[in-house]
Amino acid sequence: MFTRRNFLNRAALGSLAAVSGVGLSACSDAHAKEEKPADAVKPLAISTWDFGTKANEAAWAILTTGGKALDAVEAGVMVIEADPLNTSVGIGGAPDRDGHVTLDACIMAPDGGCGSVCALEHIVHPISVARMVMEKTPHVILVGEGALEFALAQGFKKENLLTEASRKAWEAWKINAKYEPKINVEVHDTIGMLTIDQNGDIAGACTTSGLAYKMRGRVGDSPIIGAGMFVDNEVGGAAATGLGEAVLRTLGSFLVVELMRNGKSPQEACEEAVARIVKKHKNYKDFQVGFIAVNKQGQTGAFSVQPGFNYALFANGENKVYDAACSMTK
Ligand code: ASP
Repeated sequence: MFTRRNFLNRAALGSLAAVSGVGLSACSDAHAKEEKPADAVKPLAISTWDFGTKANEAAWAILTTGGKALDAVEAGVMVIEADPLNTSVGIGGAPDRDGHVTLDACIMAPDGGCGSVCALEHIVHPISVARMVMEKTPHVILVGEGALEFALAQGFKKENLLTEASRKAWEAWKINAKYEPKINVEVHDTIGMLTIDQNGDIAGACTTSGLAYKMRGRVGDSPIIGAGMFVDNEVGGAAATGLGEAVLRTLGSFLVVELMRNGKSPQEACEEAVARIVKKHKNYKDFQVGFIAVNKQGQTGAFSVQPGFNYALFANGENKVYDAACSMTK
């Protein structure tokens, strides 16, 4: 069975059959066996990766007691940000190659408002800072020192985000890495999340420590509205995980939402966005990108470049993990 970590290491991809475009093959037998609800009722929470079940639980508690999609999505991803054992989000996230943990996050509300922070250091909950950028400033994005100053002025506490385990992993990486940022590292898994509340309103959030051992100053897709996440409350929402550079080049989440606006189902839209990435990247076999999407009707979709991408869907009272279908076959 593929795990999230090992499939991202595409050294093992020699055995994978190459495809010239996007096929519709299931990435695992589990996917074929597990049927997700075709028409999920509101409320609903969907998150990238299996750890998304914990985020979904927190969101569900809010959604089922009449809370708003925006509050639910923020509370959901905060659970993952606060988990020091998750090495790709929040505290405990892998640092850049110089040892700084720099976090990226964005949030989007049903009314189209959005906020984002890039390369934010020392703050456990970048998603909440992103929400404050949206609600308390005339801007959409704050970066680096400015984002930190803003967060501290809003009462956030400065903390050390580099855990002992992350520091040791980074020290170990330095021994052989030659200071080279690599695109196919196996340690990057963002949480992207979409919620629909009882009113049928949609919100989204995306938060990450980004590519492990990245160059200082590198920002990926996750905090960029339209790349790592996008919501249009009239249509639906989408979120991405995987190699941010590939998502940025195609503005992936915006693309998924626009495809849904033009009549595609969430599943078809995710498949077409992945096909675009595959078509535009000769080296697509060397990296992973996965999308999740939901439309206004509560239908969901997910698709990835490589086998191994999964997501958590809380709908109809059940919180379950599903393996996404993908472009490449085993
Ligand atoms: N998309 C994130 C980034 O490129 C990483 C990830 O999803 O694992 O920063």
